[in-house]
Amino acid sequence: MTRQDVLQELNLWPMWRLRSTGAATPEASCPDAEIADENDAAQDRRAAISGMDWRELKQAVATCTACRLHESRSQTVFGVGDEQADWLFVGEGPGAEEDRQGEPFVGQAGKLLDNMLAAIHLKRGSNVYIANAVKCRPPANRNPEADEMAACEPYLARQIALLQPKLIVALGKVAAQDLLGSDRSIASLRGTLHQAQGIPLIVTYHPAYLLRSLPDKARAWEDLCFAVRTMHGLQTDTLAAS
Ligand code: URA
Ligand code: SF4
Repeated sequence: MTRQDVLQELNLWPMWRLRSTGAATPEASCPDAEIADENDAAQDRRAAISGMDWRELKQAVATCTACRLHESRSQTVFGVGDEQADWLFVGEGPGAEEDRQGEPFVGQAGKLLDNMLAAIHLKRGSNVYIANAVKCRPPANRNPEADEMAACEPYLARQIALLQPKLIVALGKVAAQDLLGSDRSIASLRGTLHQAQGIPLIVTYHPAYLLRSLPDKARAWEDLCFAVRTMHGLQTDTLAAS
């Protein structure tokens, strides 16, 4: 899955590659040329983010105004955990409590996530990193829009590149869509091993959804067992290779 595939899925491709050739040309003021300039700016921004270290990345997110979600946030929610973690869990975006505290998954859904982690002998902050597809709270807990996800995606991409986790667990459809560029349902994505940025990825239900759907809790448990088995295999592979 390339970035182009992702953008295609999000209906943001094809991007205009036409560049304005100079201020004097008629194209310079036509809408296509403006779109080209915007896309150049987006690509420059992405390139800049892809070269950041942790400190620079945290700073960039803290002051980011790249999408409209910055207008209504109280603070950004960067992500939290062990920067050497084997496990990365990715949610959708901050809710009210996360927006208040500046940490992901600290509300009701977060309690369930902590329980899910405990069930597989993991604990927030130790060999686990937790992040979201978007770093600012969507107003009234609506889903993030495609353009907001696209604007925020370079940050998660850089977090993944810096972390190099062994396994990513995408929590819910928005996270899966962000990481896989696929609009498919959780039901159709779970149970198979996917990849994002070359890293194995498993999809399961979002904990906030599980709070409302008991039957799917059993399926989420199966997914966690699948994730643990996969991780054991990956850790054994690493041992064998070293
Ligand atoms: N739901 C999410 O997807 N992320 C959070 O951080 C909290 C709730
Ligand atoms: Fe920036 Fe992401 Fe917040 Fe949008 S959601 S303002 S892209 S940090």
